[in-house]
Amino acid sequence: MKLLIIKLMKAKIMYKGIPASPGIVIGRARISQHIDLDLYGQQVKSSRKSLLEEKACLESSFEKARRDLEDLREATFREQGETYALIFDAHLLLLDDPEVKIQVLNKIENENADAAYALASVASGYVSTFKSMSDPYMSERADDIRDVFTRVLKYILGIDTKSNIGHEENSIWVSREQSPSDIAALDKTKVIGIVTETGGGTSHAAIMARNMEIPAVVGLNGILEQVSEGDLIILDGSIGDVIVNPKDEVISSYMEKASRLKLQNSLYRSYVGRSTQTSDGYHVRLGANIGTIDDLDSCEKNDFEEIGLYRSEFLFMERAELPSEEEQYQAYAGVIQKLKGKECTIRTLDIGGDKNLDYLSIEKEMNPFLGFRAIRFCLERSDIFKTQLRAILRASVHGNVRIMFPMVSSLDELLNAKEILQICQIELEREGLKWRSGIEIGVMIEVPSAALIADILAKHVNFFSLGTNDLLQYTCAVDRMNPKVSHLYEPLHPGLLRLIDLVARHAKSAGIKLGMCGSMAHIPELVPLFIGMGFDSLSMSALHILPTRKVISELDLNECKKKLENVLILETASEIRKFLGSNESKLDGNV
Ligand code: PEP
Ligand code: MG
Repeated sequence: MKLLIIKLMKAKIMYKGIPASPGIVIGRARISQHIDLDLYGQQVKSSRKSLLEEKACLESSFEKARRDLEDLREATFREQGETYALIFDAHLLLLDDPEVKIQVLNKIENENADAAYALASVASGYVSTFKSMSDPYMSERADDIRDVFTRVLKYILGIDTKSNIGHEENSIWVSREQSPSDIAALDKTKVIGIVTETGGGTSHAAIMARNMEIPAVVGLNGILEQVSEGDLIILDGSIGDVIVNPKDEVISSYMEKASRLKLQNSLYRSYVGRSTQTSDGYHVRLGANIGTIDDLDSCEKNDFEEIGLYRSEFLFMERAELPSEEEQYQAYAGVIQKLKGKECTIRTLDIGGDKNLDYLSIEKEMNPFLGFRAIRFCLERSDIFKTQLRAILRASVHGNVRIMFPMVSSLDELLNAKEILQICQIELEREGLKWRSGIEIGVMIEVPSAALIADILAKHVNFFSLGTNDLLQYTCAVDRMNPKVSHLYEPLHPGLLRLIDLVARHAKSAGIKLGMCGSMAHIPELVPLFIGMGFDSLSMSALHILPTRKVISELDLNECKKKLENVLILETASEIRKFLGSNESKLDGNV
């Protein structure tokens, strides 16, 4: 197989992009007709009709684009829920921004420009401003701006915006860029895969593809030059491979791989409804990590036992201002009620790092991951923190809520956070508002200083949850976002495993609950070590729950403990990898 892949690479028919949505599909390339906003914006067209005609064309194209976006919002709301539909609210806001239209009209009037050029040059100016922002979240918004105004441009140019993409069975959509509205408009019964030249794994479009379970590979620069309409394509969205016009033997090897995956998935499905325990009866709870209420469908499908991490910051994104206490209360209560008594660990606001809220105008930082983030932000902006805590407390009457503080690095921070929580409780009591008494309070252990004082922190909380995505980056001093050092982002680093073991021992001797919600929780080779350390719960993206349940069911507690002892005396990651028989298991980002 390895030889075959090397041969393929030489023949230049195999390309590697960024895996954005898992799954293997084989289909025909359908090339998306591309209109380049930037190119239109660089040249003055000399074909301006009368001023009135250009203005009328502009107005009607804006109007048609608006109707499209409203329809897309409606369809997305029906099929994918409110959170994804909000993307189109943001697009409508962009479309309605009076500033953009004024600038375009000025260009038509003062520069003798036609509507297409005027629109394209103003819009591409906005695109490049956003693109140049160093904050990855903001720079990805450039795609939204391009999406909205390319739609208007197509109407000005008289190009059908409902392209032929997806009108044929087994289509693999190949395009320069992905936009949420393009993806929402796909005929999902016909489009089986997506390949794009641009984009990253955290863009809205990638999130939507995952949500719709359409395999996707993004960031495959230059692929449009290699693929023609109707070419046969194999797409492996789990590892980012795209193979163009493969030979028969390659097709059969991928078909085999796909059917093995299918078989494997149906084997995993046989673990639905089973309890999670080792062969000798040691129970572990398997939780799901969610960002919004819409993620609960996938949790249900994958038989989750609890929500081990509710990333509350998603509620603060994709909007123009902070959510009010009432709005937050409704959102938390909605999730909690849907859980029907299952435990829900709500993590308080973790913004900063790679997650910025532009409406708060927080100053740019040299090292945002080491800066004004999570609990540090909340303790300084106690107004925002209190609003959230009050909303969570009020929502707690609807079910089984736990509160968890992120990025704590000292006892003082924890005590301050708890004090603010107490103030909120006193206020609510005074106002005659209810909350559930006895809510468990926990702390994420994701900063080495917190891990090293775990015995001290344990006296003040009911549980720990290991945030290994950050604990790894801070312990090994490796930026989790920087591909240049990604080879050093090593979950098997003996220093990290020793640190996790230390935290586990402190949690056990203090008698508090011990969980993990970072991406290491589902690495099959590491799960036995976590069982050996005595973890009570592991939380992960819903897709990993059933495979992890299978792994655990095949373990024996005493053997896990022995394995752990052996691992903790090894000196390097590669020794540990060899000992665990790991086949290059990789973390899959922050899912
Ligand atoms: C972690 O750091 O492991 C974690 C779960 O939090 P996040 O990925 O949201 O930073
Ligand atoms: Mg974290």
